[in-house]
Amino acid sequence: MKNINPTMMQYFEWYTKPEDNLWHKVTQDASHLSSIGITHIWLPPAYKGSGGQNDTGYGVYDMYDLGEFMQKGSIRTKYGTKEEYLTAIHTLHDYDIQVLADMVFNHRLGADELENVLATEKDAKDRNRSIASPKVIQAWTKYNFTARNNMYSSFQWNWTHFHGIDYDEKEKKTSIYLFYGKHWDEDVDKENGNFDYLMGEDIDFSNPEVVKEIFTWTKWYLQTTHVDGFRMDAIKHIKASFMKDFITTLRKETKQELFSIGEYWSSHVESLNHYLEQVDASLSLFDVPLHYNFYQASHNNGNYDMRHIFDGTLVSCHPDKAITFVDNHDTQVGQSLQSWVQDWFKPLAYSLILFRNVGLPCVFYGSYYGIPEKNVPSMKPWLDKFILARKFFAYGDERDYFDDYNILGFTRSGDSEHPDSGMAVILSDGPGGSKMMNVGKYLSNCILYDITGNLKETVYVDKDGNGIFYTAGGSVSIWVKANNIYKNHF
Ligand code: CA
Ligand code: CA
Repeated sequence: MKNINPTMMQYFEWYTKPEDNLWHKVTQDASHLSSIGITHIWLPPAYKGSGGQNDTGYGVYDMYDLGEFMQKGSIRTKYGTKEEYLTAIHTLHDYDIQVLADMVFNHRLGADELENVLATEKDAKDRNRSIASPKVIQAWTKYNFTARNNMYSSFQWNWTHFHGIDYDEKEKKTSIYLFYGKHWDEDVDKENGNFDYLMGEDIDFSNPEVVKEIFTWTKWYLQTTHVDGFRMDAIKHIKASFMKDFITTLRKETKQELFSIGEYWSSHVESLNHYLEQVDASLSLFDVPLHYNFYQASHNNGNYDMRHIFDGTLVSCHPDKAITFVDNHDTQVGQSLQSWVQDWFKPLAYSLILFRNVGLPCVFYGSYYGIPEKNVPSMKPWLDKFILARKFFAYGDERDYFDDYNILGFTRSGDSEHPDSGMAVILSDGPGGSKMMNVGKYLSNCILYDITGNLKETVYVDKDGNGIFYTAGGSVSIWVKANNIYKNHF
């Protein structure tokens, strides 16, 4: 099948374990994921974190160690060895799946040595305000990478490459320390006065040595791994002008598309719009406001006005830049941004990202395979069907029936390029019910059935494309042509 809808998958969750051997697992899964219609996979940070093989990778220690050197207690990372990582990427490419690498540029953690640095303590709630006079602290800021022994790069980080840190070893005190002579970058998020500082040793993107090193590393990484694009971590804590220069220069120099998505964690669409302006829309962004709408709806027992589910979302104002998603590794239970969309609402939320004609949807590993640590069951049986339905049926014009407090419907007309495509989707966060909807000419005079299996009846579509479609309460029904050519896939 040619020209299928793109669908992304985030291939990890927070509690993914070393023994899950993720690189090996994704290699094994590549064939299946490709067959259901996954076209892009976002893999977790592949470099050695300060927590060694128990680190998710977000606690970056050495970006040149992709599971190759005995550092931080192991050769491998949480997900496997460098060799396994490269095999995974190669295999995914064999199945026409693009690989997005997770790029953690904001900070470093797990330095090898202390340095004495003059620093000023800042108010955690207002990082522009000093709360003490400058004094010498002992900061973990010197990186030697002794075991790597200058392989691939001789660059070693020291305090001059950072803005600040959150720990003084001398006084054994946790606070926010800005190094003397340094300034938080201005074009970052304004929460807490200035949100440049997030964690660990905060990298100074105004330092030319740092900028040069980030480019050098990224080119090495692209040549080594052949990844296709990036998921940029924590960009609201990184100078926007750096990010814009970084991605545009890299595209120019490598002549690659380098499809890239930024994680700007904000429920305010104005912040996302502002960021897109700052970076000339060189990145796509995760639709965080839509996630929060799903979260609210799922916790309201039907008392959510479904007509407004897309209000204030990125996909409604920048559809071409929005990565729509339901949950991720930070929103899952027990994590920093916990806002888990209730399981009963998951099929509704996935319908609202997978079957729409705008936004690039991202399926979460933790929903697909489940999260054993938190007893979240695998939703693979129905998610496989939904993802396949996107691949086969979600084409053509969209008609919205957003006219009810509980029951929402929309149709896709299908198109001539995708035989038997077109669909009617109807869902309710409250009681069940029906809606008359038009599915267009391709499905006129056809019998439609609900591929979810939630409803057993069929629906007849008349010669004008009109049919009366049903959904049960707190549920979704996805109506497609009953005798379609893909039936053996379901
Ligand atoms: Ca920062
Ligand atoms: Ca409702």
